[in-house]
Amino acid sequence: MTDLLPVLTDTWDHDRSWKLATYEAAGGYAGLRAALAMDPGDVVQAVKDSGLRGRGGAGFPTGMKWGFLPPPDGGPRYLVVNADESEPGTCKDIPLMMASPQHLVEGVIITSYAIGCHHAFIYVRGEVLHVYRRLLEAVREAYDAGYLGTDIQGSGFDLEVTVHAGAGAYICGEETALLDSLEGRRGQPRLKPPFPAVAGLYARPTVVNNVESIASVPGIVARGADWFAGMGTEKSQGHGLFSLSGHVVTPGQYEAPLGITLRELLDLAGGVRPGHELKFWTPGGSSTPIFTAEHLDVPLDYESVGAAGSMLGTRALQIFDDTTCVVRAVSRWTDFYAHESCGKCTPCREGTYWLKQVLHRIEAGLGEERDVDLLLDLCDNILGRAFCALGDGATSPITSSIQYFRDEYEAHLGGRGCPFDPARSTLFD
Ligand code: NAD
Repeated sequence: MTDLLPVLTDTWDHDRSWKLATYEAAGGYAGLRAALAMDPGDVVQAVKDSGLRGRGGAGFPTGMKWGFLPPPDGGPRYLVVNADESEPGTCKDIPLMMASPQHLVEGVIITSYAIGCHHAFIYVRGEVLHVYRRLLEAVREAYDAGYLGTDIQGSGFDLEVTVHAGAGAYICGEETALLDSLEGRRGQPRLKPPFPAVAGLYARPTVVNNVESIASVPGIVARGADWFAGMGTEKSQGHGLFSLSGHVVTPGQYEAPLGITLRELLDLAGGVRPGHELKFWTPGGSSTPIFTAEHLDVPLDYESVGAAGSMLGTRALQIFDDTTCVVRAVSRWTDFYAHESCGKCTPCREGTYWLKQVLHRIEAGLGEERDVDLLLDLCDNILGRAFCALGDGATSPITSSIQYFRDEYEAHLGGRGCPFDPARSTLFD
C-alpha cells in the first residue's frame, strides 16, 4: 500500500509490545529527543505543517488547535487526552493503548513541551479497567526511565502525568463534559465558546486531543512533517486506524493512509463473510450517516466522505450484510443514544426517548403508516437544536437509513413486523 506504513501499529505483534523496552528497541522516543532539541514553537509548527487533523472524529486541525492557546500568563495550562472512546463501533484507541501505550505517552510529553504544559491528564473510559491498568504501568515505566518528572532527559522541562478513569458515561467523551467530570462534577457539556483552548480544565487554557492524534505526534517530529503529509490526500493527510467490524471475514484494525476505500480495506480484511453481500456500513461510527454498497469506492478522507453525504468520524467501519434488518440495527443504536443522553437539553433528552419508542413499535409490527415521517420530523426537531453533538449524532443513522431503505421500514408497518429471520443475523442477538 505504502512503504511509509505501519506507524502506530508497527510493534503490535512484537513480544510484550506494551513494554517501554520493546518500544525503545523499535526506535521509540526518537521523537522526544528531537523535540527537546527544538524550540517549542517549532514543534507546534511541524504539527501544523504535517496537516494532522483530530482523529477523535471531528477532524479539526491539531496544530491550529494548539495555536489557539493564549500567550503564557504565568499560570498553568493543561493537556487532556480524550481516551473516553465510546462511539458504537469505534475501537481504535483502546487497542492502541493496550498494544503500544508508549506511542501515547511519548506524544503526551512532546505535546506538553510544545504547548508549555507541566501537568497532563489522560482521561480513560471507566469500563476498560485493563486499559487503565496498562496506562498506569506505561506511565510508571516512563517515570522510571526519566521521560517524566523533573528535568526530563536533562532538558530542564518538567511534566507530571495523571491517568484518570471515568465512570462509564458516553457523554464524557464530549470534551467539555469530560473536563467537568475530571474536575469532579457530573459530566455534562458546557456552552462553547469559550472553547477549552481559552477556558478549559479549572478554567485554564487547555488542549483536549484524542489518543490517536497525540500518538501520531512522535512520528511527525521524528520523521518530519513532509513524511506525514506525504501520506493521504491533499486535505486529509497522514495515516489513520480503520476499524473493521461486523460481517467481515477478518475484523480488526487496519492502518492505512487517509483516502483508502472500503473496497480496498475489504480486500485486506478478506471481504464480507462468504455467501453474503454488503448491505450497509458506517464510515465513522454510528453517529455518521450510513453508506451502502454504492459507496464502496468513496475515498475515506474528510472531504470525499462529506461530499458523499456522510462524515469520516472515527473511521469505525461497521459492516452489515444482507441478513441484517436495517430497522433493527438503527433501533439498537437509538437505544444507546437514548440511554446515554445526559439530560441537559430537551431536544436530546426527550427526542432520543421518542425516537426509541417509535422505532420499537415499528420493529414490533405496531407501527402506523405515518411513523416513518414521524421519525423524520423528530430528527428534524433534534438536529441543530441539541446542546452538543450527541443529539445530532443520534439522528444520522435514522435519516440516512430511511433515505436508502424506506421500503424496509414500510415493510414493518401495518402489523407485519420484521421481515427478517432473526436466526440468520449474527449481529444483534
Ligand atoms: P467540534 O467540531 O465542535 O470540535 C472539534 C474540536 O475543535 C474541539 O476540540 C473544539 O474545542 C475545537 N474547536 C472548534 N472550533 C474551535 C475554535 N473556534 N476555537 C478553538 N477550538 C475550536 O466537534 P466535537 O463536538 O468536539 O466532536 C464531534 C465529533 O466527535 C464527531 O464528529 C464524532 O465523530 C466524534 N465522536 C467521537 C467519539 C469517540 O468515541 N471517539 C464519540 C462520539 C463522537
